[in-house]
Amino acid sequence: MKTIPNRVYLTEDELPKQYYNIAADMPTRPKPYLNPVTKEPVQPDDLAPLFAKELIAQEVSTERYIDIPKQVREIYAKFRPSPLIRAYGLEKALDTPAKIYYKYEGNNPSGSHKLNSAIPQAFYNKAEGVRRLTTETGAGQWGSALSIAAQMFGLECTVYMVRVSYEQKPYRRTLMQTYGANVIASPSTLTNAGRAILEKDPDSLGSLGIAISEAVEDAVMRDDTHYALGSVLNHVILHQTIIGLEAKKQFEKIDEYPDIVIGCNGGGSNFSGCAFPFLHDKLKNGAKTEFVAVEPAACPKLTKGKFAYDYGDTAKMAPIAMMYTLGHDFVPAGIHAGGLRYHGDSALLSQLYHDGYVSAAAVRQTDVFKAAVLFARSEIILPAPESAHAIAYAIQKALECRETGEAKTIFFNLSGHGDFDLAAYEEYLAGRLQDFEYTDEMLEKCFSTLPEID
Ligand SMILES: *Cc1c(COP(=O)(O)O)cnc(C)c1O
Repeated sequence: MKTIPNRVYLTEDELPKQYYNIAADMPTRPKPYLNPVTKEPVQPDDLAPLFAKELIAQEVSTERYIDIPKQVREIYAKFRPSPLIRAYGLEKALDTPAKIYYKYEGNNPSGSHKLNSAIPQAFYNKAEGVRRLTTETGAGQWGSALSIAAQMFGLECTVYMVRVSYEQKPYRRTLMQTYGANVIASPSTLTNAGRAILEKDPDSLGSLGIAISEAVEDAVMRDDTHYALGSVLNHVILHQTIIGLEAKKQFEKIDEYPDIVIGCNGGGSNFSGCAFPFLHDKLKNGAKTEFVAVEPAACPKLTKGKFAYDYGDTAKMAPIAMMYTLGHDFVPAGIHAGGLRYHGDSALLSQLYHDGYVSAAAVRQTDVFKAAVLFARSEIILPAPESAHAIAYAIQKALECRETGEAKTIFFNLSGHGDFDLAAYEEYLAGRLQDFEYTDEMLEKCFSTLPEID
């Protein structure tokens, strides 16, 4: 039997020089974004107050491969390629014949895959003469990534941080401040969007939807400021394909190919970034690989949401997108996987799920932490609670293999580390974590706010 190393590396020379754009290969492309006021298709100019022109071009591009600028590749080289790791420890703990691999994206100072998109976003904004970026952050990983990227390119950065995370994760806040960012708990009194929420609910825990509204409003009000989004949009997913492109080369080196590709799903960027380069092979060559996006049972947009046009944010300022959604007023329970609490999903991923190329699963918080602890004990890396959703599902699959005796090759993306999530681990270890699920009645109420589109 051939031996497969614990970790598969690439040299700097083997770093991908282009991103992969799945829009080129989709049988059905997503419907266009709509202007939230006129409900007419968004024109590239409508987005110009928010995003750099080059990013808007990527958003609507149908070119299959898009060059990664040299300056971006040079910064990537400080922490990429990320290793592809064979989970020998986890396989042993599960006593499974399955071969489990994961790509580890927590090996950079932001602690997650989000830096992969923060760097090109800061680069294109700087190139266009923008001075300041605003954004929202849920669990803090995106805010950390953008703070770092903004600092590298000499941009100012203001981060609206969902209040529940601001309180649960003070060290994330400090990390962002250390990299020079101005961090504000959302909902805040600084914006109309924030004030409106606080009037209705002074104790609001906040949500990504609300924080997005605040960051967008801030950016629109100032000429020198653009907005940056850490997930959901096509250009973000494009940047994240660096994960899957590297992984394909790494699998080639060991002469393997995954039977199943798994990722956790918040706004779809780490799952899609990891999966789409492999999905290319399914779309073009009929590869049989299975793709599973894993979400929290407490925020079940793919498994229980509607495929409909909906607002990207609570205050209805962001474009309306055709996507799987729980309704823009949906405020998920304060689960510890803050990065998975978004009400909607990527339009690309939503369309591919709708068309049956990708499947989805929902897992409960207590099962997620059980999986996270088993993973930490068998693989040493402490996973982010978000990433542990992918682990929990990979474990389910590996246990199925134990039943059937199949030696499937299971591949998941370990999107980040959990070093800042110890309060959540503490709750779990003390037996205090709860599971949340939504009844159909509760969800119907959220769906009632979906916009009417002719
Ligand atoms: C933000 C985040 C996620 C969820 O966002 P996606 O866009 O769905 O990837 C998952 N894992 C980690 C570690 C994150 O920081």
